[in-house]
Amino acid sequence: MSLFKWLDRFISERGSAAIMEKRLALKDDEIAKLQSQIRDLQAAHDKEKIESDEVKFHSAIEFRRGKSTGGQWMPFCPKCKMPARVSNNFGVICSADCGWVSDLAPNELQRVVAQL
Ligand SMILES: [Zn+2]
Repeated sequence: MSLFKWLDRFISERGSAAIMEKRLALKDDEIAKLQSQIRDLQAAHDKEKIESDEVKFHSAIEFRRGKSTGGQWMPFCPKCKMPARVSNNFGVICSADCGWVSDLAPNELQRVVAQL
């Protein structure tokens, strides 16, 4: 191999290595940014999970527990999502009078809540 060919090849390969180093550094920066975004999204997701209500259904009544209920299981109307209440005449009914009425006897409500 002539000296000029060797020198040309050396310069070319050295230039490629420098370009590859720059590209790898850019990829490292991108990876660091993406990892930071993942951490931020995970923290936001965890916060949202804590603040959102947990929902369960029992005896055709929607029960929620979370920030909006002070951490207590509370009955809600499964039809219009408003709080349910106990009526002496009709049992467990919708507080917004949407027409929904539960078959559950009012005195059974505490037993159901205890099972949730
Ligand atoms: Zn309702």
